[in-house]
Amino acid sequence: MATRYGASFEEIAALLASWGEPAYRARQVWDGLYRRRAPLEDLTDLGVGLRARLAEALPPALTARHTSTADDGETLKWLWAGADGASVETVLMRYRDRATVCVSTQAGCAMGCTFCATGQAGFERHLTPGEVVEQVARAQHSSSQRVGNVVFMGMGEPLANYDATWAAVVRLHDDLGLSARHITVSTVGVVPGMRRLAREHLPVTLAVSLHAPDDALRDELVPLNRRYPLGEVLDAAGEYLAASGRRLSFEYAMIGGVNDAPAQADALARRLRGFSPAAHVNLIPLNPTPGFGAPASPPRRVAAFAERLRAGGVAATVRRNRGTEIDAACGQLRTRHAAGADSGRSAPVTMGPRRGGS
Ligand code: SAH
Ligand code: SF4
Repeated sequence: MATRYGASFEEIAALLASWGEPAYRARQVWDGLYRRRAPLEDLTDLGVGLRARLAEALPPALTARHTSTADDGETLKWLWAGADGASVETVLMRYRDRATVCVSTQAGCAMGCTFCATGQAGFERHLTPGEVVEQVARAQHSSSQRVGNVVFMGMGEPLANYDATWAAVVRLHDDLGLSARHITVSTVGVVPGMRRLAREHLPVTLAVSLHAPDDALRDELVPLNRRYPLGEVLDAAGEYLAASGRRLSFEYAMIGGVNDAPAQADALARRLRGFSPAAHVNLIPLNPTPGFGAPASPPRRVAAFAERLRAGGVAATVRRNRGTEIDAACGQLRTRHAAGADSGRSAPVTMGPRRGGS
């Protein structure tokens, strides 16, 4: 069965036509769901009967299982269940005049990054395009601010679920009206996917999760590095930069005593300097997870690392560690919820885009 945000315009038009509805109805429904971003239930121009019929024929793909809020309601997190019970999580970050949504592309993740809660829990299944788009639409329904940014930084590796990810990107751009540069796809370095992305027609923003300046350490933190080593990942990032003209983001989780030494900052700067000024490193203090022993780098160490990168010619930002928020869609909610210990106001976490960035 088609789902509410999985159905295409043509499918909705055919459905309405089969009920004997006039042709303009399809546009009305589509504009309501996407251009106006309204819940189906609120499309009052359709009439109660038709809305009820549509609601039944086009059910949502996700059921809210648990929600939590932090920061006086400015940050909301959902744990959803797919029709088969698969766990999906989404984070909405509201700012003064706009909002950002962080979406998942898979239930779980097969990449096994050692420090990541999602990676520790393993892979459940790919999400469908409709499930990805629905995360954004339903987050928008809970936000008076317009969702202007979507980051693919929730659970899962977007480029390991390429077709669904790209179909969702196109729907968010063409129908929900997001600009390509306000859509950020984050990858751990799936090189063939990065190359494919470089050939697409929409220049989305690419974020590459590095976490180490050399292969020996990256092999340990990011098992995929053994297949696609750092040099290849950076080559593919360069290809993307050349094709898209978009500044590259590099994500780096700061892990105390593991990847936060001054010499490691120098080594990272040497590797990234060639991209300057078109590269930007986001330093994210590690969000400690039960399955990974190392601590977060202390703030002073993070600041020093950033300074060293800048001295080496590479732009760097320390992401604020939003201690009162709950925005790490890196499997933390699911983990805590499964353990029966979700408290709503929880651990210091740092997923998502730069505060105030766009
Ligand atoms: N799979 C993709 C996107 C989802 S993860 C990727 O890895 O890029 C989104 C971001 O959260 C990545 O940069 C990832 O490295 C980071 N992340 C995962 N676990 C984390 C943790 N425990 N602390 C800090 N950042 C983490
Ligand atoms: Fe998967 Fe990204 Fe977590 Fe690695 S960091 S396990 S790629 S979600």
